[in-house]
Amino acid sequence: MFVFVTIILVFVAYTISIKFVYYRYGQLWPHLRNKISTPLYTVGNSNFCPTHVRSSASTRKSEDEKPRVTASETRALLVTAHPDDECMFFAPTVLKLVESHAALYLLCLSTGNYNNQGLQRKRELLDSCAVLGIPSDHVTIIDDKELPDDPAVQWSTALISSLILKHIRNYSISVVLTFDGRGVSGHANHIAIYKTLRHLASAGRLPQGCQIFSLHSISLLRKYLSVLELPVSWLFPSDFCCLIGREEYKRAKFLCLTYRSLNRPY
Ligand SMILES: [Zn+2]
Repeated sequence: MFVFVTIILVFVAYTISIKFVYYRYGQLWPHLRNKISTPLYTVGNSNFCPTHVRSSASTRKSEDEKPRVTASETRALLVTAHPDDECMFFAPTVLKLVESHAALYLLCLSTGNYNNQGLQRKRELLDSCAVLGIPSDHVTIIDDKELPDDPAVQWSTALISSLILKHIRNYSISVVLTFDGRGVSGHANHIAIYKTLRHLASAGRLPQGCQIFSLHSISLLRKYLSVLELPVSWLFPSDFCCLIGREEYKRAKFLCLTYRSLNRPY
């Protein structure tokens, strides 16, 4: 009986803590909005964070120089490698940025033609973006034979650099989001994007004030803890943490399931 009551109490306490975490992180709080809205302000790194190497021009010199930018003026660029990356890995981020009225652009560097399904995957990507709230004219899908959807092929840093820089300049991007050095799923194409952005930042080739955020790769154990992961994330605070609720989770899951061509390396 004592064990049973203890289990019930632990369950109730855990449920309450989950609710508490959700209501705290369920929106892009003002604190976070400031971080993604002030281009000259860069912060330390943790879960979802600016890259370690930054353009020297991106450090604010004094509080007086803090730009007066609102969240709705944030212009973000999500750089992915394949159709489905946007919903598979970045759905919470995309949904929260769209909800906060940031101007969000997507640059997908391949058509996902690993199984010769490039055309289908391009259509699926546009459908996915429509559900996520990214307008089709904010979506660019690169179809270049030098950037195949293939983990065995090393993508050209020079080519990726020019594509990303062109986007940053054309759309006055202030925040770039992409994978981290482990590529979340370990896919070489994901990692190539991170390496390129890291190179651009360290070489000082990013426009002044442009921040880079990389999605932190977590261990397999944490990845499949589901809601049990929440307290763990709570213990490892992030500079940019996006938490979605049940309805948004269902939407993201539905998107992944509607990608009929998902039988390939991610
Ligand atoms: Zn991918």
